[in-house]
Amino acid sequence: MKEYIEQNKERFYEELFSLLRIPSISAKAEHKEDMRRCAERLAVLLMEAGADFAEVSPSDGNPVVYGEKIVDPALKTVLVYGHYDVQPPEPLEKWRTDPFEPVIHDGAIWGRGANDDKGQLFMHVKAFEYLVCTGQLRHNVKFMFEGEEEIGSPNLPKWIKANKKRLAADVCLVSDTTMISEKVPSINCGMRGLSYLEVKVVGPNKDLHSGHYGGAVANPINVLCEMIATLHDADGRVNVPGFYDKVVELSRADRKMLARAPFDLKEYKEFLDIKDICGEKGYTTLERTGIRPCLDVCGIWGGYTGEGAKTVLPSEAHAKISMRLVPDQQSGEITKLFARHFKSIAPKCVKVEVKECEGGDGFLIPISSEAYKAAARAMTEVYGIEPVPSRGGGSIAVLAEVQKILGIDPLLMGFGLERDTIHSPNESYLLRQFFAGMESIALFYKYY
Ligand SMILES: [Zn+2]
Repeated sequence: MKEYIEQNKERFYEELFSLLRIPSISAKAEHKEDMRRCAERLAVLLMEAGADFAEVSPSDGNPVVYGEKIVDPALKTVLVYGHYDVQPPEPLEKWRTDPFEPVIHDGAIWGRGANDDKGQLFMHVKAFEYLVCTGQLRHNVKFMFEGEEEIGSPNLPKWIKANKKRLAADVCLVSDTTMISEKVPSINCGMRGLSYLEVKVVGPNKDLHSGHYGGAVANPINVLCEMIATLHDADGRVNVPGFYDKVVELSRADRKMLARAPFDLKEYKEFLDIKDICGEKGYTTLERTGIRPCLDVCGIWGGYTGEGAKTVLPSEAHAKISMRLVPDQQSGEITKLFARHFKSIAPKCVKVEVKECEGGDGFLIPISSEAYKAAARAMTEVYGIEPVPSRGGGSIAVLAEVQKILGIDPLLMGFGLERDTIHSPNESYLLRQFFAGMESIALFYKYY
Protein backbone atom coordinates (compact mmCIF):
# COMPACT_ATOMS: atom_id res chain seq x y z
CA MET A 1 0.00 0.00 0.00
CA LYS A 2 2.98 2.32 0.63
CA GLU A 3 3.62 2.76 -3.05
CA TYR A 4 -0.05 3.37 -3.80
CA ILE A 5 -0.12 6.07 -1.14
CA GLU A 6 3.01 7.69 -2.59
CA GLN A 7 1.44 7.82 -6.05
CA ASN A 8 -1.96 9.10 -4.95
CA LYS A 9 -1.17 11.25 -1.93
CA GLU A 10 -2.10 14.60 -3.47
CA ARG A 11 -5.45 13.27 -4.62
CA PHE A 12 -6.08 11.79 -1.14
CA TYR A 13 -5.50 15.21 0.42
CA GLU A 14 -7.81 16.94 -2.03
CA GLU A 15 -10.57 14.40 -1.43
CA LEU A 16 -10.27 14.55 2.33
CA PHE A 17 -10.13 18.35 2.26
CA SER A 18 -13.38 18.44 0.30
CA LEU A 19 -14.98 16.78 3.33
CA LEU A 20 -13.14 18.90 5.89
CA ARG A 21 -14.27 22.14 4.26
CA ILE A 22 -17.91 21.34 4.99
CA PRO A 23 -18.83 22.50 8.52
CA SER A 24 -20.89 19.44 9.40
CA ILE A 25 -21.54 20.43 13.01
CA SER A 26 -24.29 18.18 14.31
CA ALA A 27 -24.76 20.15 17.53
CA LYS A 28 -26.13 23.18 15.68
CA ALA A 29 -29.42 23.09 13.77
CA GLU A 30 -28.23 25.81 11.36
CA HIS A 31 -25.86 23.24 9.79
CA LYS A 32 -28.59 20.85 8.63
CA GLU A 33 -27.81 21.65 5.00
CA ASP A 34 -24.07 21.14 5.57
CA MET A 35 -24.81 17.73 7.03
CA ARG A 36 -26.62 16.72 3.88
CA ARG A 37 -23.87 18.15 1.65
CA CYS A 38 -21.20 16.29 3.57
CA ALA A 39 -23.14 13.02 3.41
CA GLU A 40 -23.58 13.39 -0.34
CA ARG A 41 -19.92 14.12 -0.88
CA LEU A 42 -19.01 11.06 1.17
CA ALA A 43 -21.33 8.83 -0.88
CA VAL A 44 -19.63 10.09 -4.06
CA LEU A 45 -16.21 9.31 -2.59
CA LEU A 46 -17.34 5.78 -1.73
CA MET A 47 -18.50 5.20 -5.29
CA GLU A 48 -15.25 6.59 -6.68
CA ALA A 49 -13.31 4.29 -4.34
CA GLY A 50 -14.99 1.26 -5.84
CA ALA A 51 -18.24 0.62 -3.97
CA ASP A 52 -20.99 -1.15 -5.94
CA PHE A 53 -23.53 1.05 -4.32
CA ALA A 54 -23.63 4.07 -2.02
CA GLU A 55 -26.50 6.20 -0.84
CA VAL A 56 -27.48 8.96 1.53
CA SER A 57 -30.09 7.22 3.61
CA PRO A 58 -32.54 9.30 5.64
CA SER A 59 -32.87 8.72 9.39
CA ASP A 60 -34.97 10.57 11.96
CA GLY A 61 -32.00 12.93 12.26
CA ASN A 62 -29.04 13.55 9.99
CA PRO A 63 -28.73 11.09 7.11
CA VAL A 64 -26.61 7.95 7.25
CA VAL A 65 -24.20 7.25 4.39
CA TYR A 66 -24.39 3.60 3.45
CA GLY A 67 -22.23 1.92 0.84
CA GLU A 68 -21.19 -1.62 0.04
CA LYS A 69 -19.21 -3.90 -2.17
CA ILE A 70 -20.29 -7.50 -2.16
CA VAL A 71 -17.52 -9.62 -3.62
CA ASP A 72 -19.03 -12.99 -2.75
CA PRO A 73 -21.70 -13.65 -0.11
CA ALA A 74 -19.69 -16.66 1.00
CA LEU A 75 -16.80 -14.45 2.12
CA LYS A 76 -16.44 -12.67 5.45
CA THR A 77 -18.07 -9.28 5.70
CA VAL A 78 -16.57 -6.21 7.34
CA LEU A 79 -18.86 -3.40 8.41
CA VAL A 80 -16.95 -0.12 8.67
CA TYR A 81 -18.42 2.46 11.04
CA GLY A 82 -17.43 6.12 11.13
CA HIS A 83 -19.01 9.54 11.57
CA TYR A 84 -18.93 12.58 9.34
CA ASP A 85 -20.24 15.07 11.88
CA VAL A 86 -17.79 17.17 13.87
CA GLN A 87 -17.65 19.10 17.12
CA PRO A 88 -18.31 22.85 17.08
CA PRO A 89 -15.02 24.71 16.52
CA GLU A 90 -15.45 27.27 19.32
CA PRO A 91 -13.52 29.07 20.76
CA LEU A 92 -12.63 30.33 17.30
CA GLU A 93 -10.00 32.81 18.48
CA LYS A 94 -7.84 29.93 19.74
CA TRP A 95 -7.43 28.44 16.27
CA ARG A 96 -4.19 29.24 14.45
CA THR A 97 -5.83 28.44 11.11
CA ASP A 98 -9.43 28.44 9.88
CA PRO A 99 -11.07 25.27 11.31
CA PHE A 100 -12.86 24.64 8.01
CA GLU A 101 -10.00 25.50 5.67
CA PRO A 102 -7.70 22.51 6.14
CA VAL A 103 -3.95 22.92 5.68
CA ILE A 104 -0.92 20.68 5.87
CA HIS A 105 2.03 21.82 7.88
CA ASP A 106 4.48 20.38 10.40
CA GLY A 107 3.72 16.93 9.00
CA ALA A 108 0.06 17.05 9.97
CA ILE A 109 -3.36 17.94 8.61
CA TRP A 110 -4.97 20.78 10.56
CA GLY A 111 -8.68 21.50 10.75
CA ARG A 112 -11.87 20.45 12.51
CA GLY A 113 -12.48 16.78 11.72
CA ALA A 114 -8.90 16.23 10.44
CA ASN A 115 -8.80 13.31 12.85
CA ASP A 116 -12.26 12.98 14.44
CA ASP A 117 -13.61 11.38 12.46
CA LYS A 118 -13.35 12.45 8.83
CA GLY A 119 -9.60 11.82 8.69
CA GLN A 120 -9.92 8.44 10.34
CA LEU A 121 -12.90 7.20 8.35
CA PHE A 122 -11.18 8.34 5.17
CA MET A 123 -8.31 5.87 5.82
CA HIS A 124 -10.89 3.09 5.46
CA VAL A 125 -12.19 4.45 2.19
CA LYS A 126 -8.64 4.63 0.77
CA ALA A 127 -7.52 1.22 2.06
CA PHE A 128 -10.67 -0.17 0.43
CA GLU A 129 -9.92 1.69 -2.81
CA TYR A 130 -6.41 0.24 -2.84
CA LEU A 131 -7.67 -3.32 -2.34
CA VAL A 132 -10.30 -2.91 -5.06
CA CYS A 133 -7.90 -1.26 -7.51
CA THR A 134 -5.24 -3.89 -7.09
CA GLY A 135 -7.68 -6.80 -7.20
CA GLN A 136 -6.89 -7.88 -3.66
CA LEU A 137 -10.27 -7.47 -1.99
CA ARG A 138 -11.34 -10.84 -0.55
CA HIS A 139 -14.08 -9.58 1.76
CA ASN A 140 -17.45 -8.00 1.44
CA VAL A 141 -17.24 -4.48 2.76
CA LYS A 142 -20.10 -2.34 4.04
CA PHE A 143 -19.81 1.25 5.15
CA MET A 144 -22.05 2.98 7.66
CA PHE A 145 -21.13 6.61 8.27
CA GLU A 146 -23.41 8.56 10.54
CA GLY A 147 -23.87 12.28 11.12
CA GLU A 148 -24.82 12.34 14.80
CA GLU A 149 -22.00 10.70 16.76
CA GLU A 150 -20.95 13.92 18.43
CA ILE A 151 -24.47 14.37 19.81
CA GLY A 152 -24.77 10.80 21.07
CA SER A 153 -26.20 9.03 17.99
CA PRO A 154 -29.83 9.52 19.06
CA ASN A 155 -31.28 8.14 15.82
CA LEU A 156 -28.80 5.57 14.64
CA PRO A 157 -29.98 2.58 16.74
CA LYS A 158 -33.41 2.87 15.11
CA TRP A 159 -31.81 3.12 11.67
CA ILE A 160 -29.66 0.06 12.40
CA LYS A 161 -32.72 -1.90 13.50
CA ALA A 162 -34.54 -0.93 10.30
CA ASN A 163 -31.51 -1.93 8.18
CA LYS A 164 -30.46 -4.94 10.21
CA LYS A 165 -30.52 -7.30 7.27
CA ARG A 166 -28.30 -5.35 4.94
CA LEU A 167 -25.86 -4.53 7.76
CA ALA A 168 -25.20 -8.19 8.49
CA ALA A 169 -21.45 -8.61 8.97
CA ASP A 170 -18.80 -10.50 10.92
CA VAL A 171 -17.15 -7.55 12.58
CA CYS A 172 -17.66 -3.80 12.92
CA LEU A 173 -14.40 -2.04 12.17
CA VAL A 174 -14.00 1.43 13.65
CA SER A 175 -11.27 4.06 13.60
CA ASP A 176 -12.44 6.77 15.96
CA THR A 177 -10.11 6.42 18.91
CA THR A 178 -6.51 7.10 19.86
CA MET A 179 -3.52 4.85 20.42
CA ILE A 180 -1.13 5.30 23.30
CA SER A 181 1.70 6.71 21.20
CA GLU A 182 3.44 6.19 17.90
CA LYS A 183 6.04 4.12 19.72
CA VAL A 184 3.41 2.17 21.62
CA PRO A 185 0.60 1.25 19.26
CA SER A 186 -2.47 -0.03 21.03
CA ILE A 187 -5.88 -1.45 20.27
CA ASN A 188 -8.81 -0.34 22.32
CA CYS A 189 -10.61 -3.26 23.90
CA GLY A 190 -13.28 -1.40 25.81
CA MET A 191 -14.90 1.97 26.08
CA ARG A 192 -16.78 3.84 28.74
CA GLY A 193 -20.45 4.64 28.50
CA LEU A 194 -22.02 8.01 29.16
CA SER A 195 -24.83 9.71 31.03
CA TYR A 196 -25.15 13.38 30.22
CA LEU A 197 -27.56 15.69 31.98
CA GLU A 198 -28.45 19.31 32.32
CA VAL A 199 -29.50 20.65 35.70
CA LYS A 200 -31.29 23.85 36.51
CA VAL A 201 -31.59 25.45 39.94
CA VAL A 202 -34.28 28.09 40.29
CA GLY A 203 -34.49 30.57 43.13
CA PRO A 204 -36.60 33.75 43.14
CA ASN A 205 -38.98 34.32 40.23
CA LYS A 206 -36.81 37.09 38.75
CA ASP A 207 -33.27 38.45 38.92
CA LEU A 208 -32.96 40.56 42.06
CA HIS A 209 -30.88 43.50 43.26
CA SER A 210 -28.02 41.85 45.11
CA GLY A 211 -27.90 44.71 47.61
CA HIS A 212 -31.60 44.67 48.48
CA TYR A 213 -31.92 40.89 48.63
CA GLY A 214 -28.37 39.49 48.93
CA GLY A 215 -27.97 37.50 52.14
CA ALA A 216 -31.71 36.99 52.60
CA VAL A 217 -32.76 35.06 49.51
CA ALA A 218 -31.04 31.90 48.26
CA ASN A 219 -28.73 32.54 45.33
CA PRO A 220 -29.20 29.63 42.89
CA ILE A 221 -25.59 29.84 41.71
CA ASN A 222 -24.28 29.54 45.28
CA VAL A 223 -26.67 26.66 45.90
CA LEU A 224 -25.75 24.88 42.67
CA CYS A 225 -22.04 25.13 43.51
CA GLU A 226 -22.64 23.73 46.98
CA MET A 227 -24.66 20.86 45.54
CA ILE A 228 -22.00 20.07 42.95
CA ALA A 229 -19.30 20.18 45.61
CA THR A 230 -21.01 17.27 47.41
CA LEU A 231 -20.94 15.02 44.33
CA HIS A 232 -17.49 13.64 45.18
CA ASP A 233 -16.30 12.33 48.52
CA ALA A 234 -12.87 12.84 50.05
CA ASP A 235 -11.50 9.79 48.19
CA GLY A 236 -12.55 11.18 44.83
CA ARG A 237 -15.42 8.74 44.51
CA VAL A 238 -18.73 9.78 42.99
CA ASN A 239 -21.09 10.43 45.85
CA VAL A 240 -24.36 9.31 44.32
CA PRO A 241 -26.02 6.41 46.15
CA GLY A 242 -25.98 3.22 44.06
CA PHE A 243 -23.52 4.67 41.53
CA TYR A 244 -20.94 1.90 41.99
CA ASP A 245 -23.38 -0.99 42.55
CA LYS A 246 -22.87 -2.55 39.12
CA VAL A 247 -19.32 -1.47 38.38
CA VAL A 248 -17.33 -4.50 37.29
CA GLU A 249 -14.17 -4.66 39.39
CA LEU A 250 -11.23 -5.81 37.32
CA SER A 251 -9.20 -8.80 38.40
CA ARG A 252 -5.61 -8.36 39.45
CA ALA A 253 -4.53 -10.11 36.22
CA ASP A 254 -6.54 -7.75 34.04
CA ARG A 255 -5.19 -4.72 35.85
CA LYS A 256 -1.71 -6.08 35.33
CA MET A 257 -2.30 -6.50 31.62
CA LEU A 258 -3.52 -2.91 31.31
CA ALA A 259 -0.52 -1.71 33.27
CA ARG A 260 1.67 -2.90 30.40
CA ALA A 261 0.74 0.30 28.63
CA PRO A 262 3.57 2.71 29.33
CA PHE A 263 2.65 5.88 31.11
CA ASP A 264 4.86 8.76 32.13
CA LEU A 265 3.21 10.88 34.80
CA LYS A 266 5.76 13.64 34.48
CA GLU A 267 5.17 13.94 30.73
CA TYR A 268 1.43 13.79 31.28
CA LYS A 269 1.53 16.69 33.73
CA GLU A 270 3.82 18.69 31.48
CA PHE A 271 1.58 18.12 28.48
CA LEU A 272 -1.38 19.50 30.42
CA ASP A 273 0.63 22.13 32.26
CA ILE A 274 -0.65 20.99 35.65
CA LYS A 275 1.32 20.57 38.87
CA ASP A 276 -0.59 17.54 40.08
CA ILE A 277 -3.28 15.08 39.13
CA CYS A 278 -6.33 14.03 41.10
CA GLY A 279 -8.87 11.25 40.99
CA GLU A 280 -10.29 8.22 42.70
CA LYS A 281 -8.10 6.86 45.47
CA GLY A 282 -6.49 3.47 44.85
CA TYR A 283 -6.30 3.66 41.05
CA THR A 284 -3.67 4.75 38.57
CA THR A 285 -4.28 7.48 36.02
CA LEU A 286 -4.84 4.99 33.20
CA GLU A 287 -7.24 3.04 35.39
CA ARG A 288 -9.09 6.19 36.32
CA THR A 289 -9.74 6.96 32.66
CA GLY A 290 -10.15 3.39 31.48
CA ILE A 291 -11.82 1.13 33.98
CA ARG A 292 -13.36 3.52 36.52
CA PRO A 293 -16.41 5.74 36.15
CA CYS A 294 -16.29 9.49 36.82
CA LEU A 295 -18.44 12.58 37.06
CA ASP A 296 -17.61 16.00 35.65
CA VAL A 297 -19.27 19.36 35.28
CA CYS A 298 -18.90 20.24 31.60
CA GLY A 299 -20.39 23.71 31.77
CA ILE A 300 -21.88 26.03 34.32
CA TRP A 301 -23.66 29.32 33.85
CA GLY A 302 -26.05 31.83 35.29
CA GLY A 303 -26.31 35.45 36.40
CA TYR A 304 -24.33 38.22 34.79
CA THR A 305 -21.18 37.34 32.85
CA GLY A 306 -20.81 40.40 30.61
CA GLU A 307 -18.32 43.22 30.92
CA GLY A 308 -18.02 45.16 34.15
CA ALA A 309 -20.14 44.65 37.23
CA LYS A 310 -23.86 44.12 37.44
CA THR A 311 -24.99 43.56 40.98
CA VAL A 312 -27.53 40.89 40.46
CA LEU A 313 -28.84 38.00 42.49
CA PRO A 314 -29.82 35.70 39.66
CA SER A 315 -33.03 33.78 39.42
CA GLU A 316 -31.47 30.69 37.82
CA ALA A 317 -28.28 28.68 37.62
CA HIS A 318 -27.47 25.91 35.17
CA ALA A 319 -24.90 23.19 34.69
CA LYS A 320 -24.20 20.37 32.29
CA ILE A 321 -22.95 17.23 33.96
CA SER A 322 -21.39 14.19 32.36
CA MET A 323 -20.79 10.81 33.90
CA ARG A 324 -18.49 8.38 32.13
CA LEU A 325 -19.58 4.85 32.89
CA VAL A 326 -17.96 1.44 32.81
CA PRO A 327 -19.44 -2.04 32.30
CA ASP A 328 -22.00 -2.99 33.70
CA GLN A 329 -23.34 0.42 34.67
CA GLN A 330 -26.37 1.21 32.54
CA SER A 331 -26.72 4.72 31.29
CA GLY A 332 -30.49 4.94 31.77
CA GLU A 333 -30.25 3.63 35.31
CA ILE A 334 -27.40 5.96 36.29
CA THR A 335 -29.27 8.94 34.86
CA LYS A 336 -32.24 8.08 37.08
CA LEU A 337 -30.04 7.56 40.15
CA PHE A 338 -28.38 10.91 39.60
CA ALA A 339 -31.64 12.78 39.01
CA ARG A 340 -33.20 11.33 42.15
CA HIS A 341 -30.13 12.09 44.24
CA PHE A 342 -29.62 15.60 42.90
CA LYS A 343 -33.21 16.56 43.65
CA SER A 344 -32.97 15.03 47.11
CA ILE A 345 -30.00 17.16 48.13
CA ALA A 346 -31.61 20.44 47.04
CA PRO A 347 -32.42 22.79 49.92
CA LYS A 348 -36.03 23.97 50.26
CA CYS A 349 -35.16 27.48 49.12
CA VAL A 350 -34.70 26.42 45.49
CA LYS A 351 -36.38 24.29 42.86
CA VAL A 352 -34.30 21.80 40.88
CA GLU A 353 -34.89 20.40 37.41
CA VAL A 354 -32.84 17.64 35.83
CA LYS A 355 -32.99 17.03 32.10
CA GLU A 356 -31.54 13.96 30.40
CA CYS A 357 -29.40 14.89 27.37
CA GLU A 358 -27.70 11.82 25.99
CA GLY A 359 -26.38 8.48 27.02
CA GLY A 360 -24.96 5.16 26.00
CA ASP A 361 -23.53 2.04 27.59
CA GLY A 362 -19.90 1.03 27.75
CA PHE A 363 -18.66 -2.20 26.25
CA LEU A 364 -15.78 -4.65 26.20
CA ILE A 365 -14.18 -6.37 23.21
CA PRO A 366 -12.68 -9.84 23.48
CA ILE A 367 -8.99 -9.81 22.57
CA SER A 368 -9.17 -13.49 21.72
CA SER A 369 -11.27 -12.83 18.61
CA GLU A 370 -10.01 -13.47 15.11
CA ALA A 371 -10.59 -9.85 14.18
CA TYR A 372 -8.52 -8.59 17.11
CA LYS A 373 -5.70 -10.94 16.21
CA ALA A 374 -5.76 -9.83 12.56
CA ALA A 375 -5.62 -6.18 13.62
CA ALA A 376 -2.76 -6.88 16.03
CA ARG A 377 -0.82 -8.68 13.32
CA ALA A 378 -1.42 -5.89 10.81
CA MET A 379 -0.29 -3.20 13.23
CA THR A 380 2.74 -5.21 14.30
CA GLU A 381 3.82 -5.31 10.69
CA VAL A 382 3.35 -1.57 10.17
CA TYR A 383 4.76 -0.35 13.50
CA GLY A 384 7.33 -3.05 14.11
CA ILE A 385 5.98 -3.65 17.63
CA GLU A 386 3.03 -5.62 18.86
CA PRO A 387 0.16 -3.34 19.90
CA VAL A 388 -0.93 -3.47 23.54
CA PRO A 389 -4.60 -3.82 24.46
CA SER A 390 -5.89 -0.65 26.12
CA ARG A 391 -9.12 0.69 27.54
CA GLY A 392 -10.43 3.94 26.16
CA GLY A 393 -11.86 6.62 28.40
CA GLY A 394 -14.13 8.12 25.79
CA SER A 395 -17.45 6.87 24.54
CA ILE A 396 -18.88 5.92 21.19
CA ALA A 397 -22.42 5.51 22.38
CA VAL A 398 -23.71 3.60 19.43
CA LEU A 399 -21.18 0.76 19.47
CA ALA A 400 -22.84 -0.93 22.44
CA GLU A 401 -26.02 -0.80 20.33
CA VAL A 402 -24.21 -2.31 17.33
CA GLN A 403 -23.12 -5.14 19.57
CA LYS A 404 -26.68 -5.66 20.85
CA ILE A 405 -28.64 -5.24 17.60
CA LEU A 406 -26.30 -6.80 15.04
CA GLY A 407 -24.71 -9.30 17.39
CA ILE A 408 -21.17 -8.46 16.24
CA ASP A 409 -18.21 -7.06 18.15
CA PRO A 410 -16.72 -3.73 17.27
CA LEU A 411 -12.98 -3.61 16.64
CA LEU A 412 -11.37 -0.30 17.48
CA MET A 413 -8.35 0.35 15.31
CA GLY A 414 -7.82 3.98 16.23
CA PHE A 415 -4.84 5.93 14.98
CA GLY A 416 -5.36 9.25 16.72
CA LEU A 417 -2.82 10.53 19.21
CA GLU A 418 -3.29 12.65 22.33
CA ARG A 419 -1.49 15.48 20.57
CA ASP A 420 -4.22 15.73 17.93
CA THR A 421 -6.43 17.63 20.45
CA ILE A 422 -9.72 16.47 18.97
CA HIS A 423 -12.78 18.44 20.18
CA SER A 424 -10.39 21.34 21.00
CA PRO A 425 -9.01 24.18 18.90
CA ASN A 426 -6.27 23.27 16.40
CA GLU A 427 -7.34 19.70 15.83
CA SER A 428 -4.78 17.90 13.72
CA TYR A 429 -3.89 14.50 12.40
CA LEU A 430 -0.31 13.42 11.93
CA LEU A 431 0.34 12.37 8.34
CA ARG A 432 2.48 9.46 9.52
CA GLN A 433 -0.51 8.13 11.44
CA PHE A 434 -2.88 8.84 8.58
CA PHE A 435 -0.79 6.67 6.26
CA ALA A 436 0.18 4.05 8.84
CA GLY A 437 -3.54 3.72 9.52
CA MET A 438 -4.32 3.09 5.86
CA GLU A 439 -1.57 0.49 5.67
CA SER A 440 -2.72 -1.23 8.86
CA ILE A 441 -6.30 -1.36 7.64
CA ALA A 442 -5.26 -2.81 4.27
CA LEU A 443 -3.24 -5.46 6.11
CA PHE A 444 -6.13 -6.17 8.45
CA TYR A 445 -8.08 -7.38 5.42
CA LYS A 446 -5.14 -9.54 4.44
CA TYR A 447 -5.00 -11.31 7.82
CA TYR A 448 -8.70 -11.42 8.69
ZN1 LIG B 1 -15.30 10.76 16.87
